[in-house]
Amino acid sequence: MTAATHVLVLNSGSSSVKYQLLDMADGARPASGVVERIGEEGGVADHAEALRQVARELDGQGLGLDSPRLAAVGHRVVHGGTRFTEPTLITDVVVAEIEKLVPLAPLHNPANITGIKVARQLRPDLPQVAVFDTAFHASIPEAAARYAIDAATAERYGIRRYGFHGTSHAYVSRATAALLGKEPAEANVIVLHLGNGASASAVRGGVCVDTSMGLTPLEGLVMGTRSGDIDPAVVFHLQRVAGMPTDEIDTLLNKRSGLLGLCGANDMREIGRRMGAGDKEAQLAFDVYVHRLRRYIGAFTAVLGRVDAVAFTAGVGENSAAVRAAALDGLAGLGIELDPVRNAVRASGGRLVSAATSRVAVAVVPTDEEFEIARDTYALARA
Ligand code: ADP
Repeated sequence: MTAATHVLVLNSGSSSVKYQLLDMADGARPASGVVERIGEEGGVADHAEALRQVARELDGQGLGLDSPRLAAVGHRVVHGGTRFTEPTLITDVVVAEIEKLVPLAPLHNPANITGIKVARQLRPDLPQVAVFDTAFHASIPEAAARYAIDAATAERYGIRRYGFHGTSHAYVSRATAALLGKEPAEANVIVLHLGNGASASAVRGGVCVDTSMGLTPLEGLVMGTRSGDIDPAVVFHLQRVAGMPTDEIDTLLNKRSGLLGLCGANDMREIGRRMGAGDKEAQLAFDVYVHRLRRYIGAFTAVLGRVDAVAFTAGVGENSAAVRAAALDGLAGLGIELDPVRNAVRASGGRLVSAATSRVAVAVVPTDEEFEIARDTYALARA
């Protein structure tokens, strides 16, 4: 009999479905792909159709949803609210509860739910697991999770800091401890997830104690197209003085701000090229991005008290030696010293780039959210 060791990871986003099939027995990834442009011209009609296309692509490789090797399906779900603080085996009740969280993540959770529903129709007998982007941050103490606003209003509308990118922060903090030759429980790590979306987290002994994203992914670091932290009164000002409707401000802050808003480009590679050519707007965008990053490194150093490592991950964190160098420049006083030569070397695996004299290790760790979701899913499916 063939052992069922495959886990299918589905990431149903607003306009795409990404999938990856992982073999938990040997770490192999026998299939992966993406169905893009859902609901757009030239793309598939909707998420249900996208899921059926994923099923067909897998079928074509003899690895379809009816494969005896498939042990479980793991679904990335963006928002778990306060209800879901760990990976959860999906039942009808769980689906209904995730649906109740849609107001907290109106752009993301509906797509995740469709992915779950279609996959369950295709294989009702198979264990399916929801892995929440917020779950790793559920351990953040109230002092860090609460906003200082009217308590009854916050309670009534679920307003608190939830945090996102949790699977990445969990994976990278654990991998960083391993790079140091420590158990997760022995290491305090600041994780900087710098992709198109970006977030920082403070992880004490494997437990998240603070993070930069909040009620939504808009708070915190400067991102590709999101502003990150701003004075909330900017919103009132735009409403009152510019007469901007709420949806327009939402779009402005989420889609037309950040690096893009500052200089017209959201790709750090292009910004680097333009800086090299003496472009002042690109330089300013970079400087604002880095300034915010340094603020969070300082803040989370204070939150943790003792820091063992600062870990960079995701597209920018893994690839931009310039961002890493600028973010950590002059931080010897905090015990953080980069080795410029190691930092400049391009490599694909997890590695340390700190100077031998650095009290705090600096790590570059490729994130692997699919692995983290598969690991959680497999553990629950076999329990
Ligand atoms: P997402 O949040 O969409 O998953 P990624 O983690 O893939 O994003 O990061 C995407 C970003 O990574 C791009 O917008 C780009 O700015 C940045 N990036 C990718 N490669 C490089 C590189 N070699 N140098 C600098 N930045 C890079």
